[in-house]
Amino acid sequence: MVKRKLLLLILIISLILCACSPTPRSVITTDKIGESLDTAQFHFIDVGQGDCTLIRSGETSILVDCGTYESGGKLCEYLQNLGIKSIDYLIGTHPHEDHLGGSSAVLRMFDVKNVFLNGEMSSSYFFERMVDVLEAKNITPYIPDIGEKYTSGPFEFEFLSPEIDFGDENHNSLVVRVKYKDINALITGDIERPVESYLLNHNKDLAADILKVAHHGSRNASSSEFLRDVNPTIAVIQCGKDNSYGHPHYEVLKRFENTRAKVLRTDENGSIVIRTDGKTLYNASEEVIPLDSEKNGESQKSFIGNIKSMVLHSPQCRNLPSENNRIYFDTKEEAIDMKYKPCGNCNP
Ligand SMILES: [Zn+2]
Ligand SMILES: [Zn+2]
Repeated sequence: MVKRKLLLLILIISLILCACSPTPRSVITTDKIGESLDTAQFHFIDVGQGDCTLIRSGETSILVDCGTYESGGKLCEYLQNLGIKSIDYLIGTHPHEDHLGGSSAVLRMFDVKNVFLNGEMSSSYFFERMVDVLEAKNITPYIPDIGEKYTSGPFEFEFLSPEIDFGDENHNSLVVRVKYKDINALITGDIERPVESYLLNHNKDLAADILKVAHHGSRNASSSEFLRDVNPTIAVIQCGKDNSYGHPHYEVLKRFENTRAKVLRTDENGSIVIRTDGKTLYNASEEVIPLDSEKNGESQKSFIGNIKSMVLHSPQCRNLPSENNRIYFDTKEEAIDMKYKPCGNCNP
């Protein structure tokens, strides 16, 4: 017990030191891009009620979250079946069991080169097991700099959040945007609306082709405004079959109906793999997923009017009315005919 406390103390001190001083450059590894690295795969691994995303190209592997403690063995098997021996970056969004539960199993089995955590601690069993393995393998976890760009093989990734303390363990999740050529993926941990609003208000570049939907599809996340800004082609919800939280919530699925995104769910689809050459997305059957696929969504219409103020906006405007007060137009003329006035900000 004393030993455990000491280990935790060492981890806390090293995390604090990292938070206070600039991240040592040595943590950033830029691997050589081999000739065969002409595609990348995004795996949303079915870990039941939990998150786990593997991003892979050639010998480069980035793992964001590790699912539950119980799913750790299954996750290791999945990674082994892909022939993975080492992991360049293990990113733990926040110390909840459904995100970092499987981390001790992964750290034990694979050669993990870098670990990024959000700096928050937990006294839970799974977290102490993780600290044990980190200590045994002499791995120092780092807190990434928000806004800093990191590279690993052909990937570039950036942490968009948390820039401030949101005062909530879920909201303080690391949010990471991974870029592979022209394709971006946004992985949001368990953030909710306050963080989404912060990111929107601070004009963060959230645009992503692939979105790991926040907080397992909770109604407290994935606001219409956030989804509009991210504007994903594919949205993946990671949740367990018949989970007790009722994830994904009906309201969120409804909000997605007004976007162009194709929603995939690990509770229905099992593990989801999306492959890309950096321009085009392919599903597991190697079919092309059109990036500009038109869905029936009303957001595909070009103009949005506020029925109360009679002001006309472009769909990208920051001052869009709430869903209840909207009217959609195909053309500007149609709106002008109905006496709508163009918004001064977005000039539709
Ligand atoms: Zn979670
Ligand atoms: Zn959580």
